[in-house]
Amino acid sequence: MSQEKVTIFDTTLRDGEQSAGIGLTTQEKLEIAKQLERLGVDVIEAGFAAASPGDLQAVQKIAAEIRTPKIASLARCYIDDVDKAWEGVKGAARPRLHVFISSSDIQIMNQLRKNPEEVLDIAVASVERAKTYCDDVEFSPMDATRTDPEYLYQMLEAAISAGATTVNIADTVGYIIPSEFAERIEDIKRNVPNIDKAVLSVHCHNDLGLSVANSLAAVKAGVRQVEGCINGLGERAGNASLEEIIMAIETRNDFFDVSTNIDTTQIYRTSRLVSDITGFPVQPNKAIVGANAFRHASGIHQDGVLKDSSTFEIMDPKSIGWPSNSLVLGKLSGRAGLRARLEELGFHLEQEELNEVFESFKELADRKREVTDQDLETLLSNNRRTADIPTVYDLEHVQVSTGDHGVPTATVKIRNAEGEEIIDAATGTGPVDAVYMAINRVIGIENRLTEFRVDSVTEGIDAIGDVTIRIELQGDTFVGRGSDTDIIVASAKAYMNALNRSLAANPNAG
Ligand SMILES: [Zn+2]
Repeated sequence: MSQEKVTIFDTTLRDGEQSAGIGLTTQEKLEIAKQLERLGVDVIEAGFAAASPGDLQAVQKIAAEIRTPKIASLARCYIDDVDKAWEGVKGAARPRLHVFISSSDIQIMNQLRKNPEEVLDIAVASVERAKTYCDDVEFSPMDATRTDPEYLYQMLEAAISAGATTVNIADTVGYIIPSEFAERIEDIKRNVPNIDKAVLSVHCHNDLGLSVANSLAAVKAGVRQVEGCINGLGERAGNASLEEIIMAIETRNDFFDVSTNIDTTQIYRTSRLVSDITGFPVQPNKAIVGANAFRHASGIHQDGVLKDSSTFEIMDPKSIGWPSNSLVLGKLSGRAGLRARLEELGFHLEQEELNEVFESFKELADRKREVTDQDLETLLSNNRRTADIPTVYDLEHVQVSTGDHGVPTATVKIRNAEGEEIIDAATGTGPVDAVYMAINRVIGIENRLTEFRVDSVTEGIDAIGDVTIRIELQGDTFVGRGSDTDIIVASAKAYMNALNRSLAANPNAG
């Protein structure tokens, strides 16, 4: 008995990236795309090629390097946009063009200033144009859930006749209710005569907190592609959270009777990577990937889980790749032990990277008795995060004196690109402020700190602190992250990371 497959379409790099305050480099996008490939998503929407030369370049890079999933680029229904999108994905092993246009009266009148017949013609012309390049064409009527149904049927029929192989019903403003959406899907299947010639897809936003529920109601009603983002990233309240949809289909397979190509054991790592790179935290009580998702606080539950984990756990944390928090390595563990453990966790390191990580592991093991899997993942992502961006300035040393009577004072030693060491000191309102003031005296990039957050990687007083900051300069936002058992040092690293990132984007800023 083979189940029908649901295509998982990831738009973290397109719709997710549109969220306020995220601007990812091509390298960062590629890093996420590689992990999405390991996760086993069927389609990666790599960007909106016509948006900017940077977007186009990122789409091309992903198309060239990621070979298993289909690579899509979004395009508005303009000939130029479609041509640009093709320029982006033509190097892919399996390219897809995704064209969209607004179909609701509200949006047609307000945004496009065109009448419905004109809009229909433009949609058809764009699908036809896309079809001259590529067999795989997806068409999305934007704001479909607020569109007059008769007009939506016409538009879908015309798009499929013009060659669209996937048609995507977008709940762009997160307006619809699950049972209503299921009915709408049934109506579409009944009223669009050629609907069996295309894959029916949905794209739900989370303004009423219903995006996952709506996507699942649509799957139950026969939809065979769902779009969404890792961690539910996206504009406003975000897109449908892919990991929740995937685990619902998996856990309630008896109900949905469909399957996906996803390797669920990659979910945790994908979620962490996306959060790490975008600087958007995952709320602790979020389903599937939140820090508390598998934590049982009530005594009755704890007792039940210890006796038999299925008592209160409907999913095994291991099935999504949740790392164990047990003691794995200590001070005396050697390089081989570290390598073996990292390989068990799915990380295969080149010798050079292993040496770097081993060095930070030794440092950590000196300060922290037990080094857990979560610590190792942090060390590794810390290392990759700094390897990713060219380091113009390197923090050699930071020293702070603080207390409830003295004036917080920080001294920093920073090495610049020429290898010169510069030492400076400053006071501040608190220790972190003093460190940032001292770094500013050396580097002198004018910026505004807009966000500062500390998370602990594991429990306990000796846990690693993970600091995430955002700085704004000349209208751009840059994320910086740093980890250390000392949160002042982690804060300094995060600031250096953000400054180096801004220098990589704009070398003249300094
Ligand atoms: Zn969207």
